[in-house]
Amino acid sequence: MARKKKTMKGNDAAAYVSYAFTEVAAIYPITPSSDMAELTDQMSATGEKNIFGETVNVVEMQSEAGAAGAVHGSLAAGALTTTYTASQGLLLMIPNMYKIAGELLPNVIDVSARCVASHALNIFGDHSDIYACRQTGYAMLCSQNVQEVMDLGAVAHLATIKSRVPFVHFFDGFRTSHEIQKIDVWDYAELKEMTDMDAVNDFRRRALNPEHPVLRGSAQNPDLFFQAREACNPYYDNVVDVTESYMQEVNKRIGKDYQLFNYYGAPDAERVIIAMGSFCDTIEETIDYLNAKGEKVGLVKVRLYRPFSAKHLIGAIPATAKVISVLDRTKEPGSLGEPLYLDVVTALRGSQFKDVPVYGGRYGLGGKDTNPADAFAVFANMAATEPKKKFTLAITDDVTYLSLPRAESHDTTPEGTFSCKFWGLGGDGTVGANQNAIKIIGDNTDMYAQGYFAYDSKKTSGVTISHLRFGKLPIKSTYYINKADFVACHNPSYIDKYDMLNDLKPGGVFLLNCSWSAQELETHLPASVKAYIAKNNIQFYTIDATHLAEQTMKDGRRTNTVLQAAFFNLTKILPAQQVIGLMKDGATKSYGKKGEEIVKMNHDAIDAGFNSAHPVEVPALWADAVSDSVGAEVAEEREDLRNFVVDVLKPSTAQKGDELPVSAFAKAADGTFPQGSSAHEKRGIAINVPCWKTENCIQCNFCSYVCPHAVIRPYALSADESASAPASLKKIPMTGLGELEFALGVSSRDCTGCGSCANICPGKKGEKALVMQPIESQLPEHENFEYLKKLPAKPEVAEKFKVSTVKGSQFRQPLLEFSGACAGCGETPYAKLVTQLFGDRMYIANATGCSSIWGGSAPSTPYTVNGEGKGPAWANSLFEDTAEFSYGMFLANKAVRSRLARLTKELISVDYASDCVKSAGQKWLDTMDNGEENKAASTDYIAALKDGINVDLTGTQWEKEWLANGKVCTCDARNKAREILVDEDYLFKKS
Ligand code: SF4
Ligand code: SF4
Repeated sequence: MARKKKTMKGNDAAAYVSYAFTEVAAIYPITPSSDMAELTDQMSATGEKNIFGETVNVVEMQSEAGAAGAVHGSLAAGALTTTYTASQGLLLMIPNMYKIAGELLPNVIDVSARCVASHALNIFGDHSDIYACRQTGYAMLCSQNVQEVMDLGAVAHLATIKSRVPFVHFFDGFRTSHEIQKIDVWDYAELKEMTDMDAVNDFRRRALNPEHPVLRGSAQNPDLFFQAREACNPYYDNVVDVTESYMQEVNKRIGKDYQLFNYYGAPDAERVIIAMGSFCDTIEETIDYLNAKGEKVGLVKVRLYRPFSAKHLIGAIPATAKVISVLDRTKEPGSLGEPLYLDVVTALRGSQFKDVPVYGGRYGLGGKDTNPADAFAVFANMAATEPKKKFTLAITDDVTYLSLPRAESHDTTPEGTFSCKFWGLGGDGTVGANQNAIKIIGDNTDMYAQGYFAYDSKKTSGVTISHLRFGKLPIKSTYYINKADFVACHNPSYIDKYDMLNDLKPGGVFLLNCSWSAQELETHLPASVKAYIAKNNIQFYTIDATHLAEQTMKDGRRTNTVLQAAFFNLTKILPAQQVIGLMKDGATKSYGKKGEEIVKMNHDAIDAGFNSAHPVEVPALWADAVSDSVGAEVAEEREDLRNFVVDVLKPSTAQKGDELPVSAFAKAADGTFPQGSSAHEKRGIAINVPCWKTENCIQCNFCSYVCPHAVIRPYALSADESASAPASLKKIPMTGLGELEFALGVSSRDCTGCGSCANICPGKKGEKALVMQPIESQLPEHENFEYLKKLPAKPEVAEKFKVSTVKGSQFRQPLLEFSGACAGCGETPYAKLVTQLFGDRMYIANATGCSSIWGGSAPSTPYTVNGEGKGPAWANSLFEDTAEFSYGMFLANKAVRSRLARLTKELISVDYASDCVKSAGQKWLDTMDNGEENKAASTDYIAALKDGINVDLTGTQWEKEWLANGKVCTCDARNKAREILVDEDYLFKKS
């Protein structure tokens, strides 16, 4: 039966195929698996039928642990049940996975494999989650690309029904789950034909039912448990054969060659890699390149990882293999080797390969891009006279020296592959437009298409990089594009921030969205960009998409349609009339429900964008443009922060984080970063920022109160401060405190342009005191902000305008600033306000979620410190345990402060302790549960203790008093004081 072709994501393929075999889905969303649950839910809502002719019953539970419990119960009662998860979500399912496997219940968990949080959270792909459940009794089947997700997903479901052994079907998070590919799609009728309906019926007959009751899951003592546990062995012996037979059945129907372990490469290969997951496609591409040049290399792809069939592995390795490297996408600290490596080494013992050296490498942790240069490096290492037997890939390890040097980068993509890279601003529609473009090309031509989208950690308004490939041959390049035919920059502010042209092939096309004339280009383009364009014969185009979007879409931010049309025109991938028609059809379909006007706006934008890119005449002189200065000084008083900004933040925000060596994180090995780094980002992403009209201002501070990013702030200036302020600083007499002046500072390069401040501003007589103006006109405000920010707080202001009021609170320094939250975020103004009230003594236990991303996405740290270096101490544990985590922080403080209180009581009770220490100690005890009062009491107490200890001569002040009283010195008091001072940071009451 011919299969339909469709362009879809890996998650869509998994959901599509699992839906066929599912009666109940118990779900709980976790990135990057959420799409699978959402699509299943959507299919259920639209009444799609599974192979049994029923609509899937989808239930959303309260957690992954809850979803696993519901899966277990539903299976026990006789419904084929599925769930989808990743990372910690999978780990939360482990207890039920033991139970489901122990009870031989057929089940598939589709896992978009993702890193498990350790020193930091990471939502991207690796295999640490699936390896963490290899002991549960689930069989584990790996798909390495979107097509395999469709095909092996079916094998997993078919095999679990027949074998009774439950399956984890996994594929790489993001790289496969979110990669868009044109694939062949199963017809449900064919899946039904392959399903062992007798096994389905047996499953239902075995289910718990009061009509024929049994007891399942008893408590067994040592006399029975072990033997009963061994009784399942035949099922595990059988699952290997069952899986293999279903692979053969699938192969027969669709002309593939799925095996438990597939070999790819030279039949007489001497150097062989063993790996699983999406990197296998890249290794295959590299093998094609190397073998075409006469080398003899190969790859064994692991598909059925559990049960691990040594026989099938050995059968897959070519007899000519002289050296093997096993690649694992996980890290098991302290182990002799990573899991797959250990399995392979064990499997080869006693085989004809027992004397073949086996090396072990780690790669791709936390989504690290791994490309052909890394595969080259592995093959080169195997041929080296002194190979590394344990190694890492794609990083520079200058601490333990495990990394292999990256080999020279070659273009290994098949001839005719067209590669494009788009740099967009999160939320500007670039990603959506590119997803559309892939579908247009994939679904309307005979070309293969691939799309992958990389994001930075900002919630929106961060950089997005779309990687699109098209070609006549299947695309196996599961890595970022580094040799592009077309590069588009959708945001002009990127031009001097990112090295976008480095990946553009000589003769390639560069499209820049900007409003600059030829003359202005001279000013705005960095020398390195000019030189690259001129020296590499780049076809350079500009387009003013913002202006065209304003004209057609009535919103200058909605540039995506205009730019997509320009892309199609410049690349000529499809004939003009055809692509314009397809784009317009797509817009009609997408926006039809929103009315004719919206559809027309989109059609106009397509027409406007198609012919509006202007070729730029590249002056020959550009080739000689002198390189721009790099590594500008960072003015920052805190040494820890300055070093961090220079060594980590700046390279990372310039998209050069992959180039940082391990030593850059030596101080952050435990995941600790300095607070306050977001102030050094200065993203400059706003189109319009607020401009203060002093004559309309009533000094209410509402603007500051609602600003999600602490960009606009009120300040009070003394006469002297006012006199020495920059000339451009606007100020007005302060209402109620005539001797002071009032000014609003706006950190324009940190503004997101959300307009919340201007929206809330009451102004005077209907005239706003804040008006949004183009950022270029307001950039000088930055100098004023820097001046204002350094001014000391005024006690009279705090006295007059109480902190418990909206107005008064805003004169306090926000200790949350310039976060990566979305423009106009409704959450951060409250979090910011809390820091203004309690930030200098505040612990934050932040649950994993939106607030942990805007609050703690490396390398930017928006929680910051005050002039005394105090500020919120922030940590994230998990999604589900923040109450317990924060309770632990409370308990720790209570324990340490209780000890300090006991020591203080003992200290002040000795009669030779000075009056000063006695009264300060008592004051501290009296206020220890009052946050504000305890601040001063703690400061005084610390000073009194230090004063006592620092007296030289015959001993402490107390000793002198003791001696003056004619008594004997024991030094006990001094030791107590020292003990208290060791933990002086804990004296202050925390929040
Ligand atoms: Fe703050 Fe938004 Fe106003 Fe900018 S536009 S100052 S981010 S409220
Ligand atoms: Fe002035 Fe408007 Fe800000 Fe109030 S909200 S302080 S009126 S600028």
